[in-house]
Amino acid sequence: MGEFAYVAPTSVADAIDVLQEHARSGRRVQALAGGTDLLVQLRGVDKAPRTIVDVKKIEETNRLDIGSDEIYIGAAIPSALLNENAELKALLPGLVEAADLIGSSQIQGRATLGGNLCNASPAADTTPAMIANRGVCVIASGGGSREMPVEAFCTGVGVNALAADEFLLGLKFPRPPARTGDAYLRFIPRTEMDIAVAGCGVSLTLDDTGVCTAARVGIGAVAPTPLRVDAAAEALLGTGVGDAALAAAGVACTAASSPISDKRGTVQYRRKVVAVLCRRAGAIARGRALGAA
Ligand SMILES: Cc1cc2nc3c(=O)[nH]c(=O)nc-3n(C[C@H](O)[C@H](O)[C@H](O)COP(=O)(O)OP(=O)(O)OC[C@H]3O[C@@H](n4cnc5c(N)ncnc54)[C@H](O)[C@@H]3O)c2cc1C
Repeated sequence: MGEFAYVAPTSVADAIDVLQEHARSGRRVQALAGGTDLLVQLRGVDKAPRTIVDVKKIEETNRLDIGSDEIYIGAAIPSALLNENAELKALLPGLVEAADLIGSSQIQGRATLGGNLCNASPAADTTPAMIANRGVCVIASGGGSREMPVEAFCTGVGVNALAADEFLLGLKFPRPPARTGDAYLRFIPRTEMDIAVAGCGVSLTLDDTGVCTAARVGIGAVAPTPLRVDAAAEALLGTGVGDAALAAAGVACTAASSPISDKRGTVQYRRKVVAVLCRRAGAIARGRALGAA
């Protein structure tokens, strides 16, 4: 394992102090949440020395608020806790299901939405689900705090929009209005514990006649970063989310994708699979929206 110093600040200000001090001196520093990506990397592909700033002792990264307008999920909350929260599961079932796909029960006891996003893997399972649910990153920075939509956060493979003196505090989602449903589906070659070949998250709101009045679609593992696909959402808007609209949304996802070929799938395969996932996730989201009416 690579050499590291470890600090565990208990306040945002103390964490920012550590990050700023390292930024000034040019020494490497990295935030730690559950460690399920970071420790694997430190043992294998990236052993360079660094200071690790554990963000789990900071109140704001551990808070889970379900308010009348907004849901806030702290960046250090493990996915197992999200899965145990019945209210959150009822409001954002697709997002919780995406978190529940990460690794095994042991991994889910540590793995966070924040770490999944900050690691900036194109195949991160929760990112398309967060995009679909209009997620916003709450970022602590030297200058105070700032916010950014989830879809703008990953800027390349393994690269995110955080400056050297910043870390992710949490993620905000608007509380879904009545008749809203979301879903996330991924395809993996094995039955579990694998990386997505493609993933798609959909959130839909229907009016009382079943017509779609709001839609968001996020896709993963088919481009260098997870993407919001507005053309897919537009294909659903104003429709009853029937087969033709879902097929058009799938076509839009294929058009937006620019995947690579690797051992899990070819470019052509990924482009096809993302359309299938969009159709299926859209149908589940529609069913949930109707169920929530
Ligand atoms: C066996 C196994 C199976 C897995 N299966 C899946 C899977 O199916 N799907 C999937 O998407 N992922 C999977 N993963 C990857 C990993 O578990 C997830 O990406 C997880 O959500 C990472 O969260 P974490 O809290 O452990 O992040 P960490 O490892 O703590 O951090 C990951 C990265 O984010 C940075 N970071 C973390 N928190 C912050 C913060 N608050 N502010 C700034 N930077 C931060 C760290 O510096 C690091 O670069 C798997 C990993 C393992 C080991």
